[in-house]
Amino acid sequence: MPTYQLHCPQCDHRFSGMVFTGAQLPEQWVCPKCGSEQAKLDERYPPQAHPLEASQGGCPCCGGASHSSPVE
Ligand SMILES: [Zn+2]
Repeated sequence: MPTYQLHCPQCDHRFSGMVFTGAQLPEQWVCPKCGSEQAKLDERYPPQAHPLEASQGGCPCCGGASHSSPVE
């Protein structure tokens, strides 16, 4: 479940939005600060992996599976 960096031109607020894996990106993002629907993806910041996915290689909330088997 990647998170996207968004920018609102109305109030210059930056925020991140999460999109479910496999789901389509919404055509409109609503700024949580001013309520404007003009918020756009900030293309300077590529989508980032979910924090749990990044650290564990698998995220429980996204249904990802962990491949690691530390016990030898
Ligand atoms: Zn705004």
